[in-house]
This record gives sequence, C-alpha cells and structure tokens, in this order.
Amino acid sequence: MEKTFEEITTHLLNYGFVYQGSEIYGGISNTWDYGPLGTLLKNHLKELWIRHFVRENPYNVQIDPAIIMNPKVWEATGHVSNFHDPLVDCKYCKSRYRADDLIKKQHPEIDVEGMDNIMLNQAIKDNGIVCPNCGKSSFTDIRQFQMMFKTFIGVTEEKSSTVYLRPETAQGIFVNFKNVLRTTRRKLPIGICDIGKAFRNEITPGNFTFRTREFEQMEIEFFIKPGEDEKWFEYYKDNCKAFVEKLGLEDEHVRYRDHEKNELAFYSKGTTDIEYLFPSLGWGELMGIAMRGDYDLSRHVSYSKQDLSYLDPETNQRYIPHVIEPSFGLDRLMLALLCDSYEIQKLSENDSRVVLHLNSFLAPYQVAVLPLSNKLNDEAYKVFLSLSKRFDATFDTTGSIGKRYRREDAIGTPFCVTFDFNSLEDKQVTIRERDSMEQKRIPISDLSDYLYEQINKDL
Ligand code: ATP
Repeated sequence: MEKTFEEITTHLLNYGFVYQGSEIYGGISNTWDYGPLGTLLKNHLKELWIRHFVRENPYNVQIDPAIIMNPKVWEATGHVSNFHDPLVDCKYCKSRYRADDLIKKQHPEIDVEGMDNIMLNQAIKDNGIVCPNCGKSSFTDIRQFQMMFKTFIGVTEEKSSTVYLRPETAQGIFVNFKNVLRTTRRKLPIGICDIGKAFRNEITPGNFTFRTREFEQMEIEFFIKPGEDEKWFEYYKDNCKAFVEKLGLEDEHVRYRDHEKNELAFYSKGTTDIEYLFPSLGWGELMGIAMRGDYDLSRHVSYSKQDLSYLDPETNQRYIPHVIEPSFGLDRLMLALLCDSYEIQKLSENDSRVVLHLNSFLAPYQVAVLPLSNKLNDEAYKVFLSLSKRFDATFDTTGSIGKRYRREDAIGTPFCVTFDFNSLEDKQVTIRERDSMEQKRIPISDLSDYLYEQINKDL
C-alpha cells in the first residue's frame, strides 16, 4: 500500500515518538519534542553510531565540547560574515521564502547551486516565479538572513558579550585538536567524533523534523597527512555506507550523490551526500562526507595565533593536517528510518496491522514481556526485570494478547515474550517475532542470550 508522509507523521504523533514543542501554548514554529519512544530510538541510533565509528574504529575518539564558544571561532570560520540564506518576501501577501528553494521547486531544471544573489534575482524574474501562497509574481530583492542564533553572556546586552549558539558541532572538534592529540598521545590519522545539538535560524523550517532550528548532529573530523585525502575520502565513503547498511533502509531508497564542482565550497576538493527518498517529499540529504583540506585548522591558526601544526614523528615534517568530515544529521536519519519501516500490512480480507519494521537494535523497545493473565503478573515481572538489565524492555498487562501484539507491532518492538500458565511449570515462554509473526517456545534461562544474539546479528 502506498504510504504518505502525512500518515506517517500522524502515527508518530499518536504513539508518542514526537510531540509538538510547547504544545499547551500552541506550539512554536516547527519545534518538536521527542516523546518516550522517540527518545529511545534516538538513544539507540546514537549508540550504534558510537559503536560503529568510535568503539569499533581503530582511529577515532569521542569528545563533548560546549555549545557556546568564543565568538572569534565563528569569525575564523566565516560564519559571522557568510552564514546567510537568500531571503525574498512576496510583495502582496508578505509570505517569505528562500530564493533558491522557490526557484528549484517551480523549475527543477534550473541549477541554483552556486548562484549569487544577483543571479537568483534574475532567475526569479526571467522564469516567471510566482508566490506559492497567492500566485502573484512580485518579490522584494533578496536580503541576506543571518542564520546563527545570537545571545549574550552575562548581564549586559553589549556587543562585547555577544555569543552564538553553534550552527554545527564541528568547530568544537577543531579547537580541541591539539588537546586531544596531547592527552591521548595518538598519532595521525586520528578522528575526533562528537554528537550534539546545533542551531540554525532556518527561514523555512518544515517537513516535520526534516528541517528544524534546533537539531542534533553526529560529526567526525578525521585528521590526516596532506596528500592522503583521496584515500581517506574513499575509506569514509565505504565506512559510512557500511553504517547506513546496518540501519536496514531499503536499498532503492538510498542514493550516494557526488557534488558537482559548482556546488563545492571553494576549499573543498570533493563532497558526497547520502540521500534518502522520503515518501511524498522526494530525495533529501541525510549526511555529507567532505574533503575540507586544511581550511578550518589554518583559519584557526590565523585567528587564534596558536600553532596547530603537527610534527610527523616518522618523517620529521611539520604540517597542518588535512581533514575528511563525515557529518550525519541524527533527526533526519531517524525520520528516514521511521518512514522506511512504516507499513500497513494487509493480513486478510478484513484484517490489517500497522508495523514498524525497525532494525531490532534500534527499535525503541527491543522486547515486550506480556503476561497472559493478571494472575501471572508477578512471575512475568521477574522475567521483565532480568531482561531490562540488558535491553530496553516494556511490560504490558492490559488488553487481549492480540491487541497487545498489535500495539507492539505499531511501535516496532521486534520480540514479544508471552508468559502463560505453562511457564510456571516448564519454565519456558513463547517468543513471537514481529515481522514473521512466528512463535516458538524457549527456556527462560536461554532468553537473554537468545535475544542478545538476535538483536546484534549483522551489526
Ligand atoms: P541542507 O542543505 O538540508 O540545509 P546542509 O548541507 O546545510 O543541509 P550540513 O551543514 O552539511 O547540512 O549538516 C550536516 C547534516 O546535518 C545534514 O546532512 C542534515 O542531516 C543535518 N541538518 C542540517 N541542517 C538541519 C536542519 N535545519 N534540521 C535538521 N537537520 C539538519
């Protein structure tokens, strides 16, 4: 059955994966809160990323830098002067748009990447672009819109106390490059990883959690010897592909797109995006892998006047390392997973179920323990307690067993463990698998190892 983006987001809101932000006050402009199920899924996705890129990787370590940084950082990176979006307003109905988006939506054949404001203004006029809201065709000239959130440190709102919420997690890594090298006593190549919030005052947030003003990134800055860029770029393309394959997204919904020359930042020698085909929305970027050369470290050298060079112990050469940057958006990955896994499955002429075919490791609850009768609650709860030491488990006693299975299917729980009267005697339980709906008996003493094996296979 064809699924729509709207029907999926309704499901996520109904089941408490996501809530509207500040809902009792009427919400606030495309802001979302993650509920219990969304938070569990998010935890598992972070855990899998850490496991793949940090724990099981010989080169990488993880840090957790502050969100508020010295504002000079953002002067050095060019964000203060360059981090702008081109903004136009409809002169009639006052609706506001990103000029490049507006053109791209009405004329997908026009290549807007790399166009400056003059070219965008011209493209709006030459191609009869209209306001999607009122249909008129008269726009203000493009204005630049600073995308960094500004705030103040201390009690006075003076220029000297202005700080920014970080628009990317990457810079907390660059400014700590020397600290990490010194304290870990590692040599190049080294990858420094970070998971954390980033903030962008997007003009047109939307499509649920796809584009928000506050989101989470999982970034790696991988520091290498200059000249080895291509080799490590290929390494990360393969490595990110291996990670995405673990998530279990349908192959035909994922594509790898190399940026054209005119899309690249002037310092970048190459960028590859991983994109996902969202229902109703089309292809959207999940992450990017970029060759950033020595741009960031060199800028920090010139603005901080600190020596960020590396003395190669093998060749005795001193150089500024080059960087490969794989940058994942956590919220977008989650949204892609939820869209991909959602299915309304027809079971018979007049029976169907909603299932989230989430990877077992990522599913919010990896196992549900369901006593068949309230008389069995105490004994079944002991099974739940022992499983919850190792897994995210849930315990549900309400409703018929069939209804409970359906509820677990709808939130993606891969295994349901049913405790019945025989369990008291034979010390076995029935385990039901979500996708096949197959059931089998298994000794309680084997349950935890069985589940661990099932949940971790192929990871
Ligand atoms: P876009 O072109 O969609 O604005 P970007 O190229 O500016 O994204 P990057 O700066 O490369 O994004 O950030 C890395 C990742 O962070 C993106 O691939 C995306 O998954 C995520 N991301 C960026 N902006 C947002 C946002 N406003 N809301 C949610 N996720 C975001």
